[in-house]
Amino acid sequence: MKNIFAVVTAAGSGSRLGYSQPKALVCLNGISLVERAVKTFTQHPQVAGVVVTAPADREIFSQFEKIFEGAPQVLVVKGGPSRQASVYQGLLGIEKLAEKLAITKVIPQAKVLIHDAARCLMPTEVIDRISDKLEEVNAVIPVLPVVDTLTKVVNQTGEWAGETPDRSTLRAVQTPQGFKYQTILRAHQKAQANQTGEFTDDASLMQLVNEPVALVAGSEFSLKITTPFDLEIARSLVTLNPSSG
Ligand code: C5P
Repeated sequence: MKNIFAVVTAAGSGSRLGYSQPKALVCLNGISLVERAVKTFTQHPQVAGVVVTAPADREIFSQFEKIFEGAPQVLVVKGGPSRQASVYQGLLGIEKLAEKLAITKVIPQAKVLIHDAARCLMPTEVIDRISDKLEEVNAVIPVLPVVDTLTKVVNQTGEWAGETPDRSTLRAVQTPQGFKYQTILRAHQKAQANQTGEFTDDASLMQLVNEPVALVAGSEFSLKITTPFDLEIARSLVTLNPSSG
């Protein structure tokens, strides 16, 4: 049964990658990051549709629309000024996409997976792990152990704060993060209404609705392409295994 909707966030500029175009349009062996990220979902048997958040700039937005014009199960919507604002627009897009797909109503228990286009090599097994866990709980994130020692600094000054957390109690959080539709929509609506600060991921919003978050294993292939170095690593991975991503 197709009971998963995905929101793929791609409205950021990705300035740290150093390209003049948005990061999601940068190509990895001829295929853009956003196409790769979306394809992993559209090829999954349980995925009903994908909402992509694109930059609002008219010319760039139409480039995104063109990429997905032949894919009826994909809807491109305008993102907002922050990731959180973009995800909210993506969530609102799910109803519109369902209408387009002649699904009369998105049920509150539908599964929503929110994913960053920058993690375009995420393997399909991660979708399975998130989806399976969502049979039991309302919020799930994929994580990896932390291999580096992390230290705390004073605000943005970079000065040592004298605190080195025990890394065995820390995990690196990836996407896609999975939620029941009603849970994530309620959390984002509450964040909008209360004008809370910006959260860098969606699981952080679960504190607003008192929902516990379950953890499943992430994947090293889900690396977030942020710098030119990350792009080179991703290129090597795709060259070594062209069927990946
Ligand atoms: O900035 P950061 O690396 O945390 O962005 C993570 C993801 O959120 C990226 O896929 C980016 O395209 C997306 N994003 C967005 N809207 C924004 C900013 C970032 O969809 N305004």
